[in-house]
Amino acid sequence: MIRHNLIIAASIAAICSVANAAIPEPASMLAASNPFAKVSPLQYGYPQFDKIKDTDYAPAFAEGMRQQAAEIEKIANNKAPATFDNTIVAMEKSGRLLARVSSVFGNLSGANTNDTFKALERDLSPKRSAHGDAIRLNPKLYARIKSLYDRRDTLKLDAESKYLLERYHTDFVRAGAKLSAADKDKLKAMNSQLAELQTTFAQNVLEEANASALIVDTREELAGMTDKAIDAAAKVAAARGLGGKFAIPVVNTTGQANLAVLTNRAVRERLMAASLARGSHGGKFDNTAVVLQLAKLRAEKAALLGYPSFAAYSLEDQTARTPEAVNELLSAFARPAVANARKEGAEIQQVIDKENGGKGNSFELAAHDWSFYSDKVRAERFNFDQNQLKPYFELNSVLVNGVFFAANQVYGLTFKERKDLPVYNPDVRTFDVFDADGKQLAIFIADFYARGNKRGGAWMNAYVSQSSLLGTHPVVANHLNIPKPADGEPTLLTYDETRTLFHEFGHALHGMFSNVKYPRFSGTSVPRDFVEFPSQVNEMWSTEPKVLANYARHYQTGAPMPQELLDKVIASKKFNEGFRTTEYLGAAMLDQKWHQLSVSQIPTDVLGFEAASLKAAGVDYAPVPPRYRTTYFSHVFSGGYSAGYYGYLWAERLDAETVLWFNENGGMLRKNGDYFRKMLLSKGGTMDAMQMFREFRGHDPKVEPLLERRGLTEK
Ligand SMILES: [Zn+2]
Repeated sequence: MIRHNLIIAASIAAICSVANAAIPEPASMLAASNPFAKVSPLQYGYPQFDKIKDTDYAPAFAEGMRQQAAEIEKIANNKAPATFDNTIVAMEKSGRLLARVSSVFGNLSGANTNDTFKALERDLSPKRSAHGDAIRLNPKLYARIKSLYDRRDTLKLDAESKYLLERYHTDFVRAGAKLSAADKDKLKAMNSQLAELQTTFAQNVLEEANASALIVDTREELAGMTDKAIDAAAKVAAARGLGGKFAIPVVNTTGQANLAVLTNRAVRERLMAASLARGSHGGKFDNTAVVLQLAKLRAEKAALLGYPSFAAYSLEDQTARTPEAVNELLSAFARPAVANARKEGAEIQQVIDKENGGKGNSFELAAHDWSFYSDKVRAERFNFDQNQLKPYFELNSVLVNGVFFAANQVYGLTFKERKDLPVYNPDVRTFDVFDADGKQLAIFIADFYARGNKRGGAWMNAYVSQSSLLGTHPVVANHLNIPKPADGEPTLLTYDETRTLFHEFGHALHGMFSNVKYPRFSGTSVPRDFVEFPSQVNEMWSTEPKVLANYARHYQTGAPMPQELLDKVIASKKFNEGFRTTEYLGAAMLDQKWHQLSVSQIPTDVLGFEAASLKAAGVDYAPVPPRYRTTYFSHVFSGGYSAGYYGYLWAERLDAETVLWFNENGGMLRKNGDYFRKMLLSKGGTMDAMQMFREFRGHDPKVEPLLERRGLTEK
């Protein structure tokens, strides 16, 4: 996953660095002692985490917005006729203080939040939305952009500059620049309300994760979990004032890690029920009313801008273009995926029946049984279980000998850990990244452990984005939620966590290889249904024999993973794909169903609508609930993936094609990596994304390589 800190659509996390002190910033009314007042003196403008206090954000935001508003007024009211330079480039350079504080605040409110942050987020989100609107709905500014856009072919612009002008025009029109003054006011009010609701949704999800948990009275009920994990559950309970009991917090996706190990079926059932009920069982953190308001407001906003639904509005600016194209892709997968999941379910049922002395004495497979028994099927079929792998996937080895090693083999990068840079949590690590020619390319921040003040899931983010206009170099971060082991214990990963590490680093590469002029186009500033593609490609190296042999070593003995275990890992890659695809499709379909509604179609019953939608889409196979249910689906109700969760599958078509391309061209070779970097990873958003892909691959992406990969080709 990837998160952007949107300041205004036109300027994504653009931050200037010392290297570019030549571009003056407007006079600042911010106290000189505020660490955001100037570009951080640390290399590449790396944030001064040791100096930033919670009280520094609010004044920096206020002054940052004031400064940018003044800069924009100056551009809009310029007496001189509009030129590309005095309008578009001037806007690209504006708002640097705001970008600086936004990137740190945006990153830390996901990775290291606290009550001050949360209060500030609630206070700021409508203000930032209003600030963005004041820019994009400024009629004089739009008139200048339009006058340039109308004569764009005569301006003698280079390709990136011309595309930038086109993007600004599109951004402004989509933001409502063509609306009447009265409608603009309506839109502003809607945007501000949307921003508040999204913040409320996200905070409810996080607060509920921290407040709710499965509580059990005895150790025995947690049989299957390790002693250490049970001790940790006792500590969590004690911290919540339930001394003597045990608490398992419920986080992120519908599936919960402990469902794979808990042997007590009744406890599994309670854990799954607690997970599924999040956000919809009444009480303080219930999100049902928030969802209905969000869905309605989004549909109203789309209608105001002339679209039948929010999905139609949103998708027009994606590579998918229309809801029909998205529906077509999702439907193409639904039937084979559910059929496959049912086949997997039947195999699991056999194991259950066998264990329970035959059909008559057995029970029917339910959602809370799936991962527990699928691990058994896996063990039987491939003769190994996940726990045999873990000793070979030690975090540091996976990072250094796996992820970094692959980046060295494919792109020639080298890495050196730094200890001098300040960090916001002692577990956070920093690395210098050097290019093949030895020159420094970027700083990479690794924040891998789960914390109570960190959002669930995994994502990449940029603190500083590359731009030759601003002279900035990338400072990018990867965030995961790996459970932290007890002191002195090694961090052993599951295969999924290992793959996630490679995935997020693929986003990081996209940010670090960025070689663009304008901040608007930097790194991962591509359509959302394209952005997961480079990260998915990077996953391919996690099972590349040469890479696996290098990182998958026993944490105690250093012995490489036995070849036969390694072969089994690779052979089992398609295992459980029916489940994986079905739970994903459930969530992706829900996202589309909610956002393809017109204003008059908004329902009143969230869970009823959800059930009907899954049924209509043919993904209502009870043992496989959606990966996220509506009321805790942060990607689409608070994050940047509204009407966009399909993007993972959409982008995976490009990924599957690219893996084929590497394989057709000799696989893991520098020349292949360099070509992929040159044609794709370095270009950010400087041109139409699908055109970029076509120029790289030589043709449009087909769906077959992906169906094949997911083992979904058999009917
Ligand atoms: Zn991702």
